[in-house]
Amino acid sequence: MTTAKKSMDDIMALCKRRGFVYQASEIYGGINGFWDYGPLGAQLKKNLRDAWWEDMVMNPCRGRRGPGGERVRCVPVETCIIQHPKVWEASGHLAGFADPMRKCPGCGHFVRADQYWETLAQGSEWLRSLVQEFEPSPEPTKSPGLDSARMLKWAKSKGKRLAPNLALVRNPEVTLSWLATRVNGQPDVPPELEEIVRYVATEQLHATGLQEPCPRCGGVLDAPAPFKLMFESWAGVTQSDDNKVYLRPETAQGIFVHFKNVVDTTRVKVPFGIGNTGRSFRNEITPRNFTFRSREFEQAELEFFCHPDEAAGWYAFWRDFRLEWWRSVGLGSDNLRLREHEKDELSHYSTATCDIEYRFPFTAPDFGELEGVAHRGCYDLTQHTEHSGVKLDYFDTERGETLPNGSRKGERYVPHVIEPAAGLDRGALAIVCEAYTRDESRPSPEIMRFHPRIAPIKAAVFPLVNKDGMPEVAERLHAELFARFGRAGFVEMDAKQSIGKRYARMDEAGCPCCFTVDGDTLKDQTVTVRDRDTGAQERIGIDRSAEYLAERLGA
Ligand code: ATP
Repeated sequence: MTTAKKSMDDIMALCKRRGFVYQASEIYGGINGFWDYGPLGAQLKKNLRDAWWEDMVMNPCRGRRGPGGERVRCVPVETCIIQHPKVWEASGHLAGFADPMRKCPGCGHFVRADQYWETLAQGSEWLRSLVQEFEPSPEPTKSPGLDSARMLKWAKSKGKRLAPNLALVRNPEVTLSWLATRVNGQPDVPPELEEIVRYVATEQLHATGLQEPCPRCGGVLDAPAPFKLMFESWAGVTQSDDNKVYLRPETAQGIFVHFKNVVDTTRVKVPFGIGNTGRSFRNEITPRNFTFRSREFEQAELEFFCHPDEAAGWYAFWRDFRLEWWRSVGLGSDNLRLREHEKDELSHYSTATCDIEYRFPFTAPDFGELEGVAHRGCYDLTQHTEHSGVKLDYFDTERGETLPNGSRKGERYVPHVIEPAAGLDRGALAIVCEAYTRDESRPSPEIMRFHPRIAPIKAAVFPLVNKDGMPEVAERLHAELFARFGRAGFVEMDAKQSIGKRYARMDEAGCPCCFTVDGDTLKDQTVTVRDRDTGAQERIGIDRSAEYLAERLGA
């Protein structure tokens, strides 16, 4: 089942019903762009964060050697959300971290200029309604696409309610006659939707040029203007500009500002990486697509410092490993891809950047970014050196000419940086979308096929009935499994409802294995194990349960 066929509404409903994701402040009507994780979602995201931490910081690249055959060394930091405002001046965020915004003077609605068409296609109620009027006309004499009579009727009825500021609604006869001369000129060519949208929003071509209408009310949008994305606050008693601080828009800068500290206080040598995870904040103009574009989200970023001559090799190394890593946590299908940026997409300091992208149900057939891997050159360390006056370079004792005593003269340089920057919320969302499966042949058709490492519930133990000694045996098995696997996720014990319903609940939660204690267990010391993905059941000795689960989880 490709994600294109999965319904985001179904996935969101399951996330709510089973406690993966809740709307933040839901009892007060929610707050746009903020999401909370329920019990299963919180554990799922923790498992994803832990997997990142383990495979990027503790045992980088799972022991794989670097491009020159060297061991890959990484260390962690944990840095503050609020930093000195000069950090954001140096990083360029204060001056440049803004999206181009267009405001509708009619209704006050804002749209991100660079995402205008997709926002319109996904979110405009009036456009959805109007598109229905473009259905091919049943009369063969009429040109395909546009039926002026139907559109006029729409403008005078639904249009009035849905898009009061649209030119077609305010001045339908003029707009339609004008539209007909342009769009309906060639009866056999179906008109492009974008073209029609522009014409129905424009009253007079010669006066204004073609317009792009407000997705909400159809009014003419203002020209794009920059909109700052950083949240502001104050640190201290006076709420003045002198005390202004910013919530970080990324975790990366916390790493750069401690480059020297880490070099001076640990034994790391270039090449090495510093990892940082935590919340970041961006006042996104149009938060949407569930958790995909939120105003508060979590990042997992690594800055890998290396000699400039080796940076290209490390870039390829991290790019390949990161793609493989996302596959390893459950995104193994062709919904995952790597996209190298074109030259004109690159930041001025970057010689290579790629995105690791996932085809979400709401982006399909297109893809949305999960992680960016960027070759940032020496931009960040140089910027912070200039703004702080503290030299952020490195003296490499293993480089330079060889001296008569056999040692090296050393070389001083500003390291280059490769940055794999991942979003944990987008990662969790991709994992949820990928795992979501419908199997109509099952009594309860929704199954979450999580990778065992990421699954929030690792196992469930069920006494078939809540009597005849079964609960006691089940309790003992539960305690044993919990002691061994409880650090990585829930081990559930459930005695309520029919066994079929209990299995279905676990399928929806993505629990890989269920163990059922029944009448035979008491006689022959065996239990039934049921596999989530196939629904197949087998009997194993109860004393083999932990080993069986370890194999299933790959633990
Ligand atoms: P986009 O182009 O989608 O706004 P970006 O290129 O600005 O993203 P980066 O600054 O490279 O994103 O941040 C690294 C990662 O942080 C992204 O790949 C994404 O996973 C995550 N991320 C960025 N913005 C958001 C957001 N508003 N909501 C959730 N995750 C985000």
